Amino acid sequence: MRERKFIVFESCLQSLLALCFLCGNACKIISTKVSGTMVTLTSQCSVDPSHVKTWKSQPSHGTMPLGNLQLAASIMFSGCSTVKAVNCFKFMRISTFCVSTYYNIQKAYLIPAVNSLWSKKQELLICDVKKKSKVRLGGDARCCSPGHTAKYGSYSLMDMDTSKVLDMQLVQCTEVKNSYAMELEGLKRSLQFLEDAGVTVTDLTTDRHSSVKKFMREIYPSINHWFDAWHIAKGITKKLDASSKKKLCHTISPWIHSISNHVYWCGASSDGNAELVVAKWKSVMNHIVDIHEHPFENFPTCAHDELVEDREWIAEGEKLFSAFSKVNLLRAFHNTSFTITAGSRAHVEVKSIVTNRTLLADIGKLSPHVQTSSVESYHKVVCFFAPKFLHFFYHSMNAR
Ligand SMILES: [Zn+2]
Ligand SMILES: [Zn+2]
Repeated sequence: MRERKFIVFESCLQSLLALCFLCGNACKIISTKVSGTMVTLTSQCSVDPSHVKTWKSQPSHGTMPLGNLQLAASIMFSGCSTVKAVNCFKFMRISTFCVSTYYNIQKAYLIPAVNSLWSKKQELLICDVKKKSKVRLGGDARCCSPGHTAKYGSYSLMDMDTSKVLDMQLVQCTEVKNSYAMELEGLKRSLQFLEDAGVTVTDLTTDRHSSVKKFMREIYPSINHWFDAWHIAKGITKKLDASSKKKLCHTISPWIHSISNHVYWCGASSDGNAELVVAKWKSVMNHIVDIHEHPFENFPTCAHDELVEDREWIAEGEKLFSAFSKVNLLRAFHNTSFTITAGSRAHVEVKSIVTNRTLLADIGKLSPHVQTSSVESYHKVVCFFAPKFLHFFYHSMNAR
């Protein structure tokens, strides 16, 4: 199968078979049989009709031309769309199989090959993981299409110490009550699989999906459940970015990157100490207004050295009230927003994001471990093989 292959024009083939292989006289091709990517030619001598030669363009296994099998495998393993690949051949008038033949080959050979290889690899991975005293996993879901119209959702659990995917579960939307529920279902199945395989998970880092939080708390209280800094930072960046575009809030812009980095630092520098993480996190509200001493016993001053360069500090601000009825009138007058502030509106905006109640409740569980961004990277690789805009049937999707 490693042998090289070439594109051969029909006229060149005919010239190759123009002379009799036994007597050297002129020959003519009496039959041309095409089977997908393979052609079988039969030539007959013009002088002695018993001089007949049959020539095949590729080896076969039984009735299967190996070129057909290898082309189908190449389409799948390179992440191509079958229809596009087959069309590409058609446009160049290179003989190939039709799409339905591809699916037959995929079903009979390719998917079983992928499944068998994965099972073997997975068995070895699980074997290694079982030897470890701490099994720290990162988990995340991936939807098969953008938005919330997904037909499938996959959930992957990765060993955070080795960045190896230990398990992947593909859930169909029809198996659960809606597409949102696929994430939890995938996680459930994955954890169950590991449990059945004899793996004792000690830590799990995920995003802050509320059903996942509840599930971990109730069903797996023995597993330390952490939240991934990458997801939290991404969410905060998005909110700060939106706020910075509001009237009088452009001063937020230069701080977005630092505040997002602060999320990672809080998690990585606190060794899972929730109170310390919260104190460090809240201190950012002081830091951005050039105050580096904080009313927290466990974190009384910023951890940075003395700042030499000046920063674009935000002016302090305080939210006075945001009563809708009164503000509606004022809003028309000021043409600003529902929130009335004293001092800088930018500071009030940042504060509402940083000290959001749900965020504060979760940030103490910010993962001190390597983050699930490697799961994200893995999902990008999956995207290459199963692009979100293409449709696949279950087994094909699972294999890809
Ligand atoms: Zn001859
Ligand atoms: Zn500071």
